[in-house]
Amino acid sequence: MEILRVERLSKVYGKGESEVKALDDVSFSIRKGEFVAIIGPSGSGKSTLLHLLGGVDHPTSGKVFIEGTDMYDLNETQLAIFRRRQIGLIYQFYNLIPVLTVEENITLPLLLDKQKIDQKQLDGLVKTLNLQQRLNHLPNQLSGGQQQRVSIGRAIISNPAIILADEPTGNLDSKNSGEIVELLKMLNKTRHQTLIVITHDERIALQADRVIAIEDGKIAKDEVTRP
Ligand code: ADP
Ligand code: ADP
Repeated sequence: MEILRVERLSKVYGKGESEVKALDDVSFSIRKGEFVAIIGPSGSGKSTLLHLLGGVDHPTSGKVFIEGTDMYDLNETQLAIFRRRQIGLIYQFYNLIPVLTVEENITLPLLLDKQKIDQKQLDGLVKTLNLQQRLNHLPNQLSGGQQQRVSIGRAIISNPAIILADEPTGNLDSKNSGEIVELLKMLNKTRHQTLIVITHDERIALQADRVIAIEDGKIAKDEVTRP
């Protein structure tokens, strides 16, 4: 089943002399449960693509459909709600809220969406993330690996259709990177969670079902490694 479709997506930054075509007429689709790695040189358009898939920026032209919804056809209020429910974002530098505890950071999307917290579900998630002993800590009291696990918790608490991650292991040492890769893979396998991950990390690319290489704003290669 198709969960995401990108149609002729382009993004141009700036105007005239300083114009940059960051994404140039890109189309592809992704099936539910697929684990896709996006690779490519710096400046090739990977982050631009991820931001457009995540509804955090607007395309110059083209469309993004998530579970059949034309995302950029929504108004800003609808888009904000759609994003919170259907898209989990994970960043290289975690983007946690420093004054909120681990538990508050994880449950923030539910709070913003006025949804009830299912305590049993939360307990299960916290156990999966191995954060049981850290629920009342603040982000700066945690190691990098722990902070990234909190951000993964925040990304999946609303059971989004898709998880988008931008270099999730980019700021971690080898041991913590390995744990994050295992965790992402486990979510993909056991929850059938669709995952799209920008990465320079060979280990992630090797775990993915499919590798899309971006060069100069275009898809240079799209290979299914695990059918
Ligand atoms: P990558 O993630 O592959 O490093 P990006 O998507 O960040 O690539 O960038 C693609 C191109 O778009 C680059 O040439 C970059 O300089 C340019 N770019 C990215 N964001 C902006 C922006 N906000 N304003 C102007 N140019 C940008
Ligand atoms: P890791 O071994 O996972 O790389 P660290 O060596 O950074 O992690 O931290 C070891 C333990 O000490 C972790 O469980 C972490 O939560 C805790 N810790 C690290 N920094 C702090 C801090 N500034 N305040 C409180 N606890 C910390």
